[in-house]
Amino acid sequence: MRTTLIALTALLASSSALADTLVYNANGIQVDRFGHLAPFYGFVVGDDGKVARLVRDDEPRPKTTNSIDLKGRTVLPGLIDAHGHVMALGFTALQLDLTGTTSLADLQARLKAYAEANPNARWILGRGWNQELWPDKRFPTAADIDAVVSDRPVWLGRVDGHAAIANSAAMQAAGFALNTQSPSGGRIENGLFVDNAMSLIESRIPAPTPAEQDAAMAAVQQKMLATGLTAAADMGTAPDEWAAMNRAGEAGTLKVRILSYAGGIPGMKAINGGRPSDWLYGDRLHLGGVKLYADGALGSRGAWLKQPYADKPDTHGLQFLTDAQMTEQANAAAAGGYQLAIHAIGDAANAQVISTYEKLSATYGNDRRWRIEHFQIADPADIPRLKPAGIIASMQPTHQTSDRLMAEKRLDPSRLEGAYAWQTVEKLGIPIAFGSDFPVESPNPFPGLAAAVSRQDMNGQPPGGWYPEQRVSFEQALAGFTRGAAYAGFAETRIGGLDPGKWADFIIVDRDVSKVDPQALARTQVLETWVAGQKVWEKPPSAAGAERGR
Ligand SMILES: [Zn+2]
Repeated sequence: MRTTLIALTALLASSSALADTLVYNANGIQVDRFGHLAPFYGFVVGDDGKVARLVRDDEPRPKTTNSIDLKGRTVLPGLIDAHGHVMALGFTALQLDLTGTTSLADLQARLKAYAEANPNARWILGRGWNQELWPDKRFPTAADIDAVVSDRPVWLGRVDGHAAIANSAAMQAAGFALNTQSPSGGRIENGLFVDNAMSLIESRIPAPTPAEQDAAMAAVQQKMLATGLTAAADMGTAPDEWAAMNRAGEAGTLKVRILSYAGGIPGMKAINGGRPSDWLYGDRLHLGGVKLYADGALGSRGAWLKQPYADKPDTHGLQFLTDAQMTEQANAAAAGGYQLAIHAIGDAANAQVISTYEKLSATYGNDRRWRIEHFQIADPADIPRLKPAGIIASMQPTHQTSDRLMAEKRLDPSRLEGAYAWQTVEKLGIPIAFGSDFPVESPNPFPGLAAAVSRQDMNGQPPGGWYPEQRVSFEQALAGFTRGAAYAGFAETRIGGLDPGKWADFIIVDRDVSKVDPQALARTQVLETWVAGQKVWEKPPSAAGAERGR
């Protein structure tokens, strides 16, 4: 018996020795399953691309075919964004980028330059403006856009994706005029389309061709890998997007891992024959859930609040679904074996989603990892309801730093206690997954980690942090972008840490992220990104001085 075992072990060793790789001399940083920082020195990657074992610095170096000396550089598990919009980020990379515009004139100048550079674009699409950053904070109008481009449709999304401005040609293409009535759950004002009204224009934009989608798929992967993201949950995958992801998988060009959540019940029925998918292409693509919306966003006053907006007392925001509708849709998804991820920003929306999940847990059990996406403004009385109902809080640290001044206007201070309340959620033992909501925010997870530990933006504002009692520790923050995000996607046995049996997804960064201050943490540069034991991205030498997060 003993001889057989030895022979078997020798056989296994010799076969894996064909292509196994020792990665050593690393300043490895990860979080263990108890949530503690667990430094590591090295690990062996098997020829299957998975971690075979961790290696300590005080043991004899294992014999492997290949070895990589990291010379003490800092290594982290590949980071996971628990809430992004994959194809939207890809298209954003190809479209007119209006992030950081400092004024309407700045937007107009960028639009003019883009229109001249893209004379053949049938529609001019852009995204990222935020009038809150402009001197007069006035929303743009159709006339403002007509003044620059009037010969073809223009459609420019606000940074939060919950409002967009159209020019007159876009409205004509969609067949209506400035005085067209707003649909329920939406609003139209001088060419500004909010929430449900946006689909009136968006449904008329020519669908991207498969070639355009493939270009977006390539672009988004470069963006993700360059910022250290090896995986992301795609919140609201459309059928044509699912097709593009599969094309990349079939072609072998899918490098990142995508945890897909179908966009609504129609999306659920249209994708993959109405069933969750297997883990495809070496665990690089999986459809496991359905994304629904309970309300809009705070910036456009679409978030559904229990009390009226402090700065617009005639509205509580927008309720997207009645209780009966939400229950019916959630039931349809849960009965089909899907996980649920429901967007809720306002405290009324969060209460509605919690109640829905409480009902689902009574029917399906509380181990289905129901997710609330954003969980941004919660009534403190509702937060303790999450844990018993088996709910995960999927939150985005950089939303807090981007939103805080706006949130202070939309809500009075007494209603901010349960806003972006990460530490309250942690203390209650509620599972947290962190993400960015890209392209709403930059996909770069390092400003997210920094915001999580500091409640400060990239520039250290505000001093001392915004409601600093809601800061989380570095290990909690890192867990949110690794193990927590994996758990929220039912992927914790595959990714989220460099543990035996999981994929060797890791990144090499330029500083010890566990020791630097939040400002330096936010500016961490990724040097190399590896997926399944293969190097898939390396920082180009020319970009050595670049420090921009976006
Ligand atoms: Zn989102």
